[in-house]
Amino acid sequence: MTPSRIVLKFGGTSVSTIERWRTILNLIREREKQGFAPVIVCSAISGISNLLEALLPDAMHGRHGPALANLRDRHATLAREMDVPIDVIEADLSEVERIASGVALLGEFTPRLRARVMATGELMLTRLAAAWMAQQGVDVAWHDARDLLRSIAGPNENRHFLSANCTCEADPTLVTRLGTAAVLTQGFIARDPDGHTVLLGRGGSDTSAAYLSAVLQAVRLEIWTDVPGMFTADPRVVPHARLLRRLGYAEAQELAAMGAKVLHPRCIGPAAANGIPIWIRATPTPQLEGTELSDEIATSPGVKAVAARRGILLLSIETLGMWQEAGFLARIFVTMEKHGLSVDHIATGESNVTVSLDALANALDPRILDACVAELRAFADVKVIGPCAAVSLVGRQIRSVLHELGPALEAFAELPIHMVSQAANDLAITFVVDEAHADRLVLSLHQRLLDHANTPELGRAWHLDAPAASRWVVHREALLAMASAGTPVYVHDLEKVRRQAMRLRALPLERAFFAMKACPLPEVI
Ligand code: ASP
Ligand code: MG
Repeated sequence: MTPSRIVLKFGGTSVSTIERWRTILNLIREREKQGFAPVIVCSAISGISNLLEALLPDAMHGRHGPALANLRDRHATLAREMDVPIDVIEADLSEVERIASGVALLGEFTPRLRARVMATGELMLTRLAAAWMAQQGVDVAWHDARDLLRSIAGPNENRHFLSANCTCEADPTLVTRLGTAAVLTQGFIARDPDGHTVLLGRGGSDTSAAYLSAVLQAVRLEIWTDVPGMFTADPRVVPHARLLRRLGYAEAQELAAMGAKVLHPRCIGPAAANGIPIWIRATPTPQLEGTELSDEIATSPGVKAVAARRGILLLSIETLGMWQEAGFLARIFVTMEKHGLSVDHIATGESNVTVSLDALANALDPRILDACVAELRAFADVKVIGPCAAVSLVGRQIRSVLHELGPALEAFAELPIHMVSQAANDLAITFVVDEAHADRLVLSLHQRLLDHANTPELGRAWHLDAPAASRWVVHREALLAMASAGTPVYVHDLEKVRRQAMRLRALPLERAFFAMKACPLPEVI
């Protein structure tokens, strides 16, 4: 009998050093000992996909030289740590180089070409890793993910090549073909029906792993990243945010869509549809408990987390002509659709309709917005409000916390809440406020509703598991390099500065002042 598959996905920071690869190796051995056959899905080395994304636009102007050198360097560093010859990725490097030269010559490139170039990030990393594993005497089969995942034709060229969807029906022949050995493959990439390389969208490795777990009917999907799970809030804003030990798929989906970045929102669907539990774990601290997503046991009702999304714009559309009118909303939405704007939240009253637009998701071009607003003004008064943030409370039966919201919103007695929206699925309540006030609202909601909550889903606070000492270990190389240029040097941890500043801002102070003489560094200020 073939052993059951477990799919383990490792993100960029989890595959970039030899130390992390030792952890990965241990995890493979552990899973095998437990009688499972692991499938390892990897992102590119962290930063490489960004580098490759920028490479072709630079190449159009013949400015791709430094990026190519950087690409080689970053991989050579890991190859050296692994004691693996760089030769194993020479073919990929020269493919990127050839494509870039072609683009420099022609002065243009297509989404198809971009997909090919960006795919090399994941391919190169897994080739290095396969060579290293062979050296360690581990029996792991390297597979090209494009032979495992098949994409569906997309609605336009961009979506087709850069943000594809894949089929995810169970495939018993693939299960047989893969046999019993551990598999090492790439996230992010697949092949379309014509045989071309396509990408699953930025951050798409989670989605790859979810597709594979569905195709192989895995018993579990494990997402290994740099934090141990989903939290009750973004720990950078709320350092005492607590680990969510357990969440239902729908809650996790809502949370991911509302701004929690740990998991790609697209990866939950394929696992949920097949009842495959998703575990989230931290590669730097594999012993720590993480988050488990499943519908096995119902979670307690009520708020589980506060999430915030920035870069939101509101359109407040006002008319007296709406009362008992038919088709007013339709006119608004037809106009928005015509300009390609997708709406997130909506709230309506007798004479006002307010909609929120996610500026990032809409890749908002001010000219498009202006044109849309001009058209809406033909039949209504329109106000554009922004930049705003959408702060959402997420959890099953979220309406059960309505009566507790009053005190939590006290901080907002003097500050505007532009919009409140609550979907009928009872999974989230959203407040849209000025972007500058978002952190304050998150903190105050967390304080009232989650700091002391006592449900079995809530675990330890983030800061307890992220000891300051580990930062010195994590940044060891960079610190040593800095010190080699001469000592003493002062090193500031901007992440920590930010967190402390947030804590200050949460105090009920009317105003705070910063003494420049204490630290005149622009980054800190
Ligand atoms: N390397 C890809 C990206 O950065 C995919 C991923 O990391 O999930 O978008
Ligand atoms: Mg990711």
